[in-house]
Parts: sequence; structure tokens; C-alpha cells
Amino acid sequence: MSTGLRDKTVVVTGGTSGIGLAVAELALSQGASVALCGRDAGRLSEALDKLGTKGAGEDRLMGVRCDVLDGAAVEGFAATVGRWRGVVDLLVNNAGQGRTSTFADTTDDAWHQELDLKLMSQVRPLRAFLPLLRASAAGALTIVNSLIAIEPVPHMVCTSAARAAVQNLAKSLSRELAPHVRVNSVLIGMIESGQWDRRFAARPDQHTTREQWFATLARDRGVPLGRLGRAEEAAAAILFLGSPAASYITGASLEVSGGHSHAI
Ligand code: NDP
Repeated sequence: MSTGLRDKTVVVTGGTSGIGLAVAELALSQGASVALCGRDAGRLSEALDKLGTKGAGEDRLMGVRCDVLDGAAVEGFAATVGRWRGVVDLLVNNAGQGRTSTFADTTDDAWHQELDLKLMSQVRPLRAFLPLLRASAAGALTIVNSLIAIEPVPHMVCTSAARAAVQNLAKSLSRELAPHVRVNSVLIGMIESGQWDRRFAARPDQHTTREQWFATLARDRGVPLGRLGRAEEAAAAILFLGSPAASYITGASLEVSGGHSHAI
């Protein structure tokens, strides 16, 4: 099966690490052009170097330093992509990270920050790129969300609630933007990425190896497939839903969790 992404333009927010970087790599391998963003200049240049060495020339790859919570920066990113391509076929709203907190230890400021990060990281890029998505004959948005949107966890109360709001927004968008732009979400369980690398680096027992630490995590959390997912496994689902291969799918969500969910 062909994804139909050849010669399409894909935009990835948070494309400099983990899942976003894997999406960029896979899209390039499918013949698409990719524009990505992240906040840190060093990570951005490393990601562009890495993708460039895999054969993507400047004609098919560009990156911009942009915080998706900064409205002006996001508008600037979209304007740059507009001048570069004039159209966007797929927007992957991926930028973000989780927050560990219970109800008792989440302050008002933390609630505001988390809702802002999760919701406005969807709203601002979509608003800025919508005219370019509408210029495509096959426009699509794939929202990178989390399984905790539908199965909240006690140590991430605030993030779970914010993720549920994103899931609700995805459904509204799929109706309001149809038939021109399809909107789907991917519910990520646990995927090895920059976030998990940072948690591994901060592990209490520094003698535990990476393999031991990740295997224990998967076992303790009861992941039926017995391991965390790889970034490229999440990327495959994200790109499929956003590609012409999924042309009759909108308003759907796809779990990529190794079977971790209990929801039917
Ligand atoms: P990584 O930390 O590896 O990647 C996050 C990416 O987002 C980086 O490129 C980072 O670059 C960028 N980013 C973060 N905040 C912003 C911002 N405000 N503006 C622009 N770019 C930003 O993490 P993952 O690959 O794991 O995360 C990708 C998405 O998947 C996130 O939304 C995350 O919450 C979600 N997710 C991941 C899970 C997992 O198990 N990995 C589980 C559930 C959800 P920089 O810091 O330089 O800006």
C-alpha cells in the first residue's frame, strides 16, 4: 500500500526529537517535503543535520525555531512555509511534554500552564496553517495526543484533564473542517523518546541499565506487548492517518500503546 505522501508537504511541530523527529524522517522517506519546528536552536540544527545526512536536501527540508505557545512565532513559521511551498497537505501537531502532578500538588499556575500547553499548542498552529491546509486537495491534521486522555492516571491528573480536552476538540474540528481538512488523533501510550530519556537519566538507581529500566517500566505498567514503543512505530500511525491512504477517515483516534488501554 502506498501512503500517497510523495510530493506532499508535511509540517511537524516539535519535530526535533522523539516522535516528531521520527515523523519527519518517515515522511521524507515517503517522498514528502517536511517543515519542522522546535524551541531549542541546538536541537533544531542537530535534527536538520541528521535528516539532511539521510538524503533530504534543502529543497525538501526546512526548520524554524518556534515555540508553539508564541502566537507571533507560529504565524511567522506558517508564513515561511507558505512562501516555501504555498500549500500544506498534513499538519502534525506534536509539540509538547507531560507534567507529573496530583490534584493536591497542582497549583493554579500549573493548571493554567498545562491547559495552555496542551490546548493552545493545537489551536495556534492549526489557525496559522489552516489557509495552507485548505489550499491542499487532501488537507489533514493529525493530533498527537495521549492515552491518558481517555484513561486518566493518578500521577498525571492535570495532564490527563488537558489531554481529554484535546480529544474533545479533535472531534469538533473533524466536523467543522470537513470535508476539506480531515482531523484525527493518535493516543500514545509509552513511546521511547526524549521525555523517557530524561526520566531514565534521572532514575534513582543509576546502576540500572537502559534495557533493565525500560523492561521494568513496561512490566510494572502492565503493557501487554511487554515493551515501550519505538518512535518510528508511533510515526507510522501518525503519518498513515494524515496521508491520502486514510482519505475516508476523520474524527477517529488510534491507540499506539502496545495494548495498554482497557477501554473497549
Ligand atoms: P520529546 O521530548 O522527545 O520531543 C518533544 C518535541 O517537542 C521536541 O522536539 C521539543 O523540542 C518540542 N517542543 C516541546 N515543547 C515545545 C513548544 N512549546 N514549542 C515547540 N516545540 C516544542 O518527546 P516525545 O516525542 O515523547 O513527545 C511528542 C508528543 O507526544 C508530546 O506532545 C508528548 O506529550 C506526546 N506523548 C508522548 C508520550 C511518550 O510516551 N513518549 C506519551 C503520551 C504523549 P524543544 O524542547 O527544543 O522545543
